[in-house]
This record gives sequence, C-alpha cells and structure tokens, in this order.
Amino acid sequence: MPQEPKPVNAWSTPKSPWGQQKKVEACSLNDVMSEELASHLQKQQENKLAKRLEILAPAEPQIVQPETLPCETEEDINAILAIAGETPETCDDMKIAQMLQLQFDREHNTMLEKQAEKFNNHSKVSISLKNFKVSHTPKEEDGDEDDDDEDSDDALPEVVEHKSQWRKYQFNKGGLTGHGKDVMSKHDAVLCGRKNAEKIMQFPPDFLSGDAEKMDLRLPNHVFNKLRHYSRTGNKQFNRLHEKQENATAEHAVDPRTRILLFKLVNAEILESITGAISGGKEAAVFHAYGGKLEEADMPSECAIKIFKTTLNEFKNRQDYIKGDHRFSKDDFKKQNPRKTIRIWAEKETANLNRMRKFDMPSPRVVALKKHVLVMTFIGENGQPAPKLKDVRFNTEDIQDAYEQTITIMKKFQDECCLVHADLSEFNLLWHDGKVWVIDVSQAVDLTHPKAFEFLFRDCQNICKFFDKSGVVNVLQPEELFNEITAWDVKGHGADFLSQMRRYEKETSEANLALENRYHKKQYAFDFYWDLSQQQREKALSAVQLSDSDQDEDES
Ligand code: ADP
Ligand code: MN
Repeated sequence: MPQEPKPVNAWSTPKSPWGQQKKVEACSLNDVMSEELASHLQKQQENKLAKRLEILAPAEPQIVQPETLPCETEEDINAILAIAGETPETCDDMKIAQMLQLQFDREHNTMLEKQAEKFNNHSKVSISLKNFKVSHTPKEEDGDEDDDDEDSDDALPEVVEHKSQWRKYQFNKGGLTGHGKDVMSKHDAVLCGRKNAEKIMQFPPDFLSGDAEKMDLRLPNHVFNKLRHYSRTGNKQFNRLHEKQENATAEHAVDPRTRILLFKLVNAEILESITGAISGGKEAAVFHAYGGKLEEADMPSECAIKIFKTTLNEFKNRQDYIKGDHRFSKDDFKKQNPRKTIRIWAEKETANLNRMRKFDMPSPRVVALKKHVLVMTFIGENGQPAPKLKDVRFNTEDIQDAYEQTITIMKKFQDECCLVHADLSEFNLLWHDGKVWVIDVSQAVDLTHPKAFEFLFRDCQNICKFFDKSGVVNVLQPEELFNEITAWDVKGHGADFLSQMRRYEKETSEANLALENRYHKKQYAFDFYWDLSQQQREKALSAVQLSDSDQDEDES
C-alpha cells in the first residue's frame, strides 16, 4: 500500500530553489513606534559620519581631499556631504573645475562661431575659426601616470617671486618651517593648494584657466595634475589636428601656396567663387568655380581650375613627353626645382589648348594661367561636369555618333593642330550637348616628337577598344585607324605593326619632309598663338597684381 504523503506544515520554512531564506527578526510594535529609539539610532549614525569627517580634515575642514577619503564608496561620500549640506554633483573639486571649464569653453566656442558668422556674412572667401575652438575629446595617454607626479613639473615656467605667498616660507631639510604650535610642513594642504592655483596661471596662454588673481584659490594636487595633463594633451591634440589638415590639403593639391594663388584669383575678380572639387586625380586636382566680373577679360560664367600637383612622384615617368618637344627647351629640365617642373605641365597644357582653340577643336578655352594653376572654361552646366565617355549610357545612335566625332577629332588633332594627344581614351573625352569634348592635353606632344607616332598608335588602340566594347559596329582596327589618320600605309599587326611603322617613319623621308613642311606652315599660327597666350598670361598676372619676377620668389 502506498504511504500517505506527509502533511506539509504551512508555517515551516519552505525549501527555496534560490537558497536559504534569512529569518526575519521580529520586533515589537512598541519598538517600531518608539521615538526615543529612533532618535538614538539617528544620533548613532550622525556620530559615525562626524567621526569620518574629522578624519577627513582635522585642521582645515573646508578642504575635501577625496584622495585620502577613508570611505570607499560614492554612497559614503554622498552621505557625508548630505550632512554637510552639499549636493552630490559638487562633491569633487575636480568635477567642479571640469564643469566650470566645460561651461567656459562652450561659451568661448559659441562666441567664436558668432564671430566667424559675422565676419563671413556675404563674403566669397570665408574664414573658419574652428581651429581656435576647444574640443573635449578625452584622450587617455598610456604610461603617463609618472607625469602626474607632483615633482615632474620642470617644464613649467618658474613662478614670479613677488606673487608667491608660499615662497615666503623657508623650509628646513625635513621640509618643515615655524616653531612649536605654528610648525608647518611643505606638504601642508593649504599651502600646496595655493601653490597649485598659482601654477595654473603659468600654463600656456591658450589654456583657459580663467583669472584667479584676487582669489584665495586652492587646488588639491590631484586636481592640479589632471589640469596640467589636460593642458598638455590639449596642446598635442591641437598640433596633431593642424598637421593633419595641412597633409589633407596637400593631398588635394591645395597646399598653402596654391590657396594663396586661388585667393588672389578671387580677389582680382577673375573668379567669383570656388565651389568644390570635381576630381582629385594622381597628377592634378580639378575644381569648379564661377567666373568673376572682370569685364576686359570676358569671363565665362563657369570655370574649371586644374591644379597640377606639387609633388613630383607622379611626374617622374612623364619626362618623355616633354624631352622631345621642341617647344620646351632643355633648360627647363635642367632647372631641377620640382615646382618649376610642375609649372611646365601647366604651361604645356595651356599651349596645347590654345593651339587647339585656334583650329576650333571642341576643348576648354584657357582663361588664366598662374604657376601650376590653370583656369579654363567649364565643360558642363550648373557645377555638374560633363560625363566622361566611359560613364555615359549611350543609345546605339549616340555611340555611333560619338565614335565618328572622335575619329574626326583625332584627324584634326593630327592634320591641323599637329599634335598627338598621347593619353586619349574614354577617360579624357567628355560628352556634352551631344558633342565629344577633348580634355587633359598636358601630355599632348608635337608631331615632331620622336615618339609621337608610337603615342598615336596607342591612342588608336584605346579608342578602337572602347568603341568596339560599347557596341559600335564595324569599328576600325587600331592599325587601320592609324593609317587613316596619318595617310600612311603601314602593314602588319600589333607589335609587328609597331616595328614596321618605325621603319616606315625612317624610310619615308618624303613623308617626313611633307610633315615638316606642313609643320612649318602651321608654325606661324602656333607662334602667333603662343605669343598671344603669353600676352594673356601677362594680363592675368597684372590683374592679380603679380609679375613674372615674383613667380620666382619661392624658388630656391
Ligand atoms: P587628370 O590628369 O587628373 O586626368 P584631367 O584634366 O583629365 O586631369 O581632369 C580630371 C577630371 O576633371 C576630368 O576627368 C573631368 O571630369 C574633370 N575636368 C577637367 N577639366 C574639365 C573642364 N574643363 N570642364 C569640366 N570638367 C573638367
Ligand atoms: Mn584625365
């Protein structure tokens, strides 16, 4: 027979899965209601806390040094302060100082913002005061704890003698001064506090310490150390920020020198305003700008500013394009100054664009040239640059049209301008108003350049490949295109074609001669336009109140 379950005692302590429950000690209602007992307990508590306060500050009860607090938890501190009549937010000198600093910095930043706003108003060139703002990004620096040592303040300037209250004390070897009851240690809290407050005034001028000249301000050591640490890291951060900005702008080819050039162009009203970057290529950065009001210069409403990079790395392998060009003397390259070499590229692009303009090529027109900064007309509208051929989604009709236009352009380049683009591809052809436009001609070479035809063949390869890929039917082979452009009859294919072409170039002296003749016929036109471009340049320079002589002020 199954045993009857034992009756559960409703009053016995049940076994809890969470562990043993504590027994609650019963007390009588009398005790709970006893005022006498309540006041006794409160007194006990107060005594306990008063004792702690005594330990905190035996001599100077008004200085609270949380570093030496015997109580561990924040709760304890808050309890003590509740009795002392203070709120927990202000329990720490450090916190008070930080809060005041924060408030001060906030006001300072707002004031700077207002100043900048007022200054910029409707100006074309705006200034920013953000570098003068105080930022509060807490940056912990590792291993800096040693720095917090009170004695490691040798970097601070010496305190001026007559102001130093604490210096009137002469301490003996043991660090003591005074006699009997008035004996004082050099570590005396009040003395150290005053000393610290005074040292704050000696921090770098950009540290916003406020003015505490007339106050008896005392700062505990740990507060002082934190402030000093903050002043140092703040400085480091500021410098880091500056370095970063300089590098960033150099990356976009707008170093301080270039910026000054741009300012001058705006001030001289050649440009109205510079709106932003269009492209930041390896060799140049291109910006969009609105044309200025300079009446005599017939300014276009929109401009493109091409800024050639002032770092030479990318240009090292491009000397080939200039070396064989009769327009650029060898002397230009003897000048080893990198900035001067860069300038040659801007000049070369200017010369090429001017020559192309003469033959009505669809290309930008030069507006101004200053050192390595070239201002030209903008291909596009409302700040939107025309897309490169590679980015256009053509319909069948348009791509066929673009192909035919490109071939016409290549022929004109060769026949009339006597130039080879030498970097012709879907990247340097823009599509605007149903027309193909040629840009980026800094590396374009004269036909007399020893490698001109090699460059031309490469251009043909690029162009044929692109249009074939884009679905144009019956695209010419690069060799066919080359023969059509040059009116030569070179046989072969690929590398074979190249070597045949070189031989052909040498052997057909008549062809070369004819080319020379044609070149000489065009020479007049070129020289005329070269002179014209130089005159324009002079005009532009005088407009920005610069002469060619001060172009060299920075060359050494
Ligand atoms: P890079 O040597 O960097 O290729 P480019 O002369 O090709 O220099 O210019 C880079 C880009 O800037 C071009 O691909 C084009 O998008 C834009 N750009 C250059 N010149 C103009 C211009 N005159 N109008 C509009 N966009 C331009
Ligand atoms: Mn380009």
